[in-house]
Amino acid sequence: MRIVLLGAPGSGKGTQAKLICDYLKIPHISTGDLFRAQIRDNTPLGIKANEYIQKGDLVPDELTISVVKESFNKEENKGGFLLDGFPRNLHQAKTLQLILAENKQYLDKAYLINVSKDTVLERIAGRRFCSNCGASYHVSFNPSKLKDKCEACGGTLIHRNDDEEHIVLDRLTVYNKSIQPVLNYYKELGILETIEGNADANDIFYDICSSLKAV
Ligand code: AMP
Repeated sequence: MRIVLLGAPGSGKGTQAKLICDYLKIPHISTGDLFRAQIRDNTPLGIKANEYIQKGDLVPDELTISVVKESFNKEENKGGFLLDGFPRNLHQAKTLQLILAENKQYLDKAYLINVSKDTVLERIAGRRFCSNCGASYHVSFNPSKLKDKCEACGGTLIHRNDDEEHIVLDRLTVYNKSIQPVLNYYKELGILETIEGNADANDIFYDICSSLKAV
């Protein structure tokens, strides 16, 4: 199964991605995570990407497509995947179709998790990430049992710079502008499914599972 998961920052995409991947036993490819790994490793690509990420801007397509292509070349991603955070604009969406078509592959579904601005701001203000392994928490909805340490690896939990409210508002503006043509594109292809995202994570997952059964 090849799935694209779309949604604004704070839409709960990361949580749903994990649930779907566990359920379908497919790998989770998150461009945000791929960039953060490159930033942690201080690679030239990571240093370049970080200039944009810190400001809440999109990383240029050339860099973004190169990290996606690299991950598609990995053996474990060849049988199917869930893409999270990609595509974010029409050029990326069309490039993805081309890359897949070259390998005689296609997307099964594009899910949009639809949320209001207020929900996004509430969710992002409480988000915490492990500085070591990237695991995500929320101070109210999913707190770590070890307070400011990661339950999985003991790493320190941090509030990402790009989760500051003024940067989130910028990210939302950028997201809304660039995602609309992507939604239209997937609608035309007949694979777009919109999921109500101002709900509990379990309810959102239930809706996605109901739709997956029909694929
Ligand atoms: P995320 O974790 O998906 O919110 O991504 C964090 C940041 O990485 C975004 O705010 C962008 O700066 C960058 N990024 C992630 N995916 C993409 C993409 N498909 N195109 C451009 N930039 C991206």
